[in-house]
Order: sequence, then C-alpha cells, then structure tokens
Amino acid sequence: MTTHAPQAAHTVTLPGSLDEAVAALAAMPAAVPVAGGTDLMAAVNSGLLRPAALVGLGRIGEIRGWQYQNGHALLGAGLTHARMGRPDFAALIPALAAAARAAGPPQIRNAGTLGGNIVTAAPTGDALPVLAALEAVLVVAGPEGARREIPVGHLLAGAEMLRPAELVGYVRVPLLHAPQTFLKATGRTGPGRATASVAVVLDPARRYVRCAVGAVAPMPLRPLDAEAWVASLIDWDGDRALAPEVLSAFGDYVAVACIPDPPAPDDGSEPVPLPPAALHLRRTVAALARRALGRALA
Ligand SMILES: Cc1cc2nc3c(=O)[nH]c(=O)nc-3n(C[C@H](O)[C@H](O)[C@H](O)COP(=O)(O)OP(=O)(O)OC[C@H]3O[C@@H](n4cnc5c(N)ncnc54)[C@H](O)[C@@H]3O)c2cc1C
Repeated sequence: MTTHAPQAAHTVTLPGSLDEAVAALAAMPAAVPVAGGTDLMAAVNSGLLRPAALVGLGRIGEIRGWQYQNGHALLGAGLTHARMGRPDFAALIPALAAAARAAGPPQIRNAGTLGGNIVTAAPTGDALPVLAALEAVLVVAGPEGARREIPVGHLLAGAEMLRPAELVGYVRVPLLHAPQTFLKATGRTGPGRATASVAVVLDPARRYVRCAVGAVAPMPLRPLDAEAWVASLIDWDGDRALAPEVLSAFGDYVAVACIPDPPAPDDGSEPVPLPPAALHLRRTVAALARRALGRALA
C-alpha cells in the first residue's frame, strides 16, 4: 500500500488489494474511496464534498477485469466504461457494453468505472437500467475479509446501503447468451446524459423478456406487467418475431407503466391531463422500448 500526504489534511492512500482498501477505510473513517474520480472530483470541484482523505481504488488489479462463475460473470467494480465497451465484453453482456459506449465523452469512459456508476446511483447512470434488467447482485467487501451480497435493485431503491468501510468489489450478472439492447435519448440534461433510456434483455431459458427504464425516476423502473405480457406473445421455439403493432403496444405499455396518468380527482371533476413535458417523455420512452425490443428480436 502506498500513502501520499501532499497536504497535512489530505491523505491519498493507494492500496493494492480490495481488503487493503477496506482496511484503509476502516482505519480512517473520514476517508472516501475514489475510483475514476469523474463523479467524486466533480463534487469536490463544485464544493459539495471536502474529503479529509482519499482511498484510491485504481491500483487494485483484482477488480479491473472479470471472471466466470456458474453461468454468471463476476465483473470487477473497477472495470472502466471504455473496457466494457470493447468487442470481447460486448459478446458477453451486449446491453452493458452498449450502455458503456454511451456513457459520456471518451475521457469520462476511460476513467469512469462500473462501481462508481452504481454507488453514485444518479438517475442518468447508463449502466443502471441494464443492471436492473439483468437483476445483478453486488458482492460487497467489508472489514476482515467479510463478503456479503446486495441485489443492485435494493441498493438503488435505498432498501440496503453500504456500511462504513465497505466497498463494492464485484457485480454478478447472469450470462444469458441471447440478444440484449440498450437505447438512450439525450437532451439538455448535460453532456450526453440520458433523458430516458431503455434496456431489454431476452431470457430464452425462462422464456422471458426483462426490461428496465432509466432516467425517468430516481431509480430504474421495471414494467413487470408489460414484460410478462410481451413474453407470452413470443414464439420462443420459432423465429421470435413480433408484428410492428405488437412492438408499438409494448412501447406504450412500458411508457404508461413508467409515466402514469395523474390520479383521478376525488371530487369527480375532470381528470388532470399529463403535463406536456411528461407526455413528451412518455412518447420518448415508448419509442425507445419499441425499438429496443424490435432490435432484440430481429
Ligand atoms: C462530463 C461528464 C459526463 C458524464 N456522462 C455520463 C453519462 O453519459 N452516463 C453515465 O452513466 N455517467 C456519466 N457521467 C458520470 C460518471 O462518469 C459515471 O457515473 C462513472 O461511472 C463514475 O465512476 P468513477 O469511477 O469515476 O466514480 P468516482 O467518481 O471515483 O466515485 C463515485 C462515487 O462512488 C464511490 N465509489 C467508487 N467506486 C466504489 C466502490 N468500488 N465501492 C464503493 N464506493 C465506490 C465514490 O466514493 C464516490 O462516492 C459523467 C460524468 C461527467 C463528469
């Protein structure tokens, strides 16, 4: 482990293993882990965060690649977007590779990591709807070699949180060996940030379609009824094709589930229409979901 103290108040520790990083965090409760620094340094630069010490994760080789485990891939939290965007990774988990390729400009993709994307948990995090659709599980490293698992959906919903000195070490995702898509619409929310995104994952073994919508709510949304409905219409032993009107109906089903109409007033007065911006977003989600499923089935 290397430690630098450029100023008395700012210690930067560079551990070489996950357990060393956890130990450094446990020894310095005021320290903050930093991976690529793309989110963290933005918070520091804007004055939102003044960490007393940093524990850098960039030298931890064990979390920068992936390994295979019982039909799953165990992805290191230190995988960069650039690495996940490469063809060998795209052959394994196509939707995550597509999300990684869409995540910001090249300098952000070169530095930003999967673990940072998850822990920041921004609604616009591109990896998040893919991980939600894949029902990914986080392998969390804690003090004294402890490991525990948290479904990514629980972390993003705030149902479970990282405890002090814990780090996301790995992300376990199923290898489904079937088409997957990720599509993203961008607008005026920042450079390349999603206004809406949709991940669609086919699961032929379970004859199921998994879909998650990003950026329209604080966490990715799963339109479960729409998934079950469309999965029941697919000829899983045949060509899997669906008619254009079925794809459109799926898009609408997903969009209304994620951006519902305002509740009807109690007093029997006229229902309030969806505001124009929400209506526009709903149309965007419908178009993304229709195209994403169409491409996955093509
Ligand atoms: C200009 C710009 C454009 C961007 N565009 C996009 C975009 O289009 N799509 C997108 O999804 N994101 C985008 N981002 C956000 C950012 O690049 C990603 O969220 C990135 O994946 C964050 O990873 P990082 O390694 O840089 O995280 P860091 O900044 O190092 O860390 C982020 C947070 O996660 C914590 N952390 C990091 N790793 C771990 C770990 N293993 N365990 C526990 N905690 C950890 C840190 O303590 C910190 O709180 C953009 C950012 C910028 C500045």
